[in-house]
Amino acid sequence: MLFDSFGRIHNYLRISVTDQCNFRCTYCMPEEEYACAGKDELMSAAEITKIAEEFVKLGVNKIRLTGGEPMLRKDFAQIVESLSRLPVELTITTNGVLVDKYLELLQKSNIKTINVSIDSLIETEFEKITGRNMFQRVWQNIQLLLNNGFEIKLNVVAMKGHVESEFENFLSLTKDYPLEVRFIEFMPFTGNHWESNKVITELELLELAKLNHEVKAIVAPAHSTAKKYQIDNNQGRIAFISTMSSHFCGDCNRLRLTANGKIKNCLFGKDEIDVLSAIRNNQSIENLIIKSVSKKHKALGGQFSTDYKEIKAESIINSSMIAIGG
Ligand code: SAM
Ligand code: SF4
Repeated sequence: MLFDSFGRIHNYLRISVTDQCNFRCTYCMPEEEYACAGKDELMSAAEITKIAEEFVKLGVNKIRLTGGEPMLRKDFAQIVESLSRLPVELTITTNGVLVDKYLELLQKSNIKTINVSIDSLIETEFEKITGRNMFQRVWQNIQLLLNNGFEIKLNVVAMKGHVESEFENFLSLTKDYPLEVRFIEFMPFTGNHWESNKVITELELLELAKLNHEVKAIVAPAHSTAKKYQIDNNQGRIAFISTMSSHFCGDCNRLRLTANGKIKNCLFGKDEIDVLSAIRNNQSIENLIIKSVSKKHKALGGQFSTDYKEIKAESIINSSMIAIGG
């Protein structure tokens, strides 16, 4: 089992399989030209499996594939098939564009839950945020997943001045569908022009929800980053990932592996440990993993204040979200 120096168990690994994406979400992709990692710098499917196996030996029992857009990998099927043979709960975060192409694979790989990002329910707004006219396709793929019995969580990055006008429509989804709509507070990463006044917090959105609805807190499972709420008696629910206004680091069980094979203890951490080079040199990575976890900071990668209004984004040493893997 992997415990850090604060006694937190680490049994959940998020693997970025690529830093490429078919979208250009404003909050994720740096505006400056972003140079993706070369093919040789990326972990191959076999290397991903080998590294994942080492984590599993050390107690990891949940793996999420992310990116970039994970389904863009040409060998996505191979990656999913081999990871699905490990004794882990396997899950994916995707922008949803290629879900129809991989539906059968997802079903036969015993994937039960999928997070799909969708920041607007209005076609033109969706295009402004993502840079792509793909709303209909993503929406159809969400329906496809629901009709095929997948548990769906919709990720919405909540940006002040944007999310408010669509908030009621997102809440209505919980009436019509058995899904979870998760509002993620806007987080600072290199090149995403984060400012504290662009953050709208869980509490602010809860107040908005309470204007027209009965809102009841639901007990969330251990290690959950999301605080969950029932809206009226709707079949679905909403949730908030309140990283900026009320972080959940005390209960963190997550580790990250970047697409170029580096362990990152925290989204906001500046330290990375290169396990891909070790694997390529036929070295054991067990001690590298243990060492990395032992160095994990208590909160927020040790990089910024818990009062988000005091954060100076330019003083944070990190990468863009697309490079880290969300
Ligand atoms: N391409 C996939 C997708 O969009 O779902 C997976 C990768 S994406 C980086 C993972 C998640 O991170 C998405 O739900 C996205 O909305 C979220 N994300 C990206 N940048 C963010 C930011 N600055 N603040 C909050 N969430 C962010
Ligand atoms: Fe691509 Fe996902 Fe980032 Fe949007 S949030 S640019 S879909 S990786």
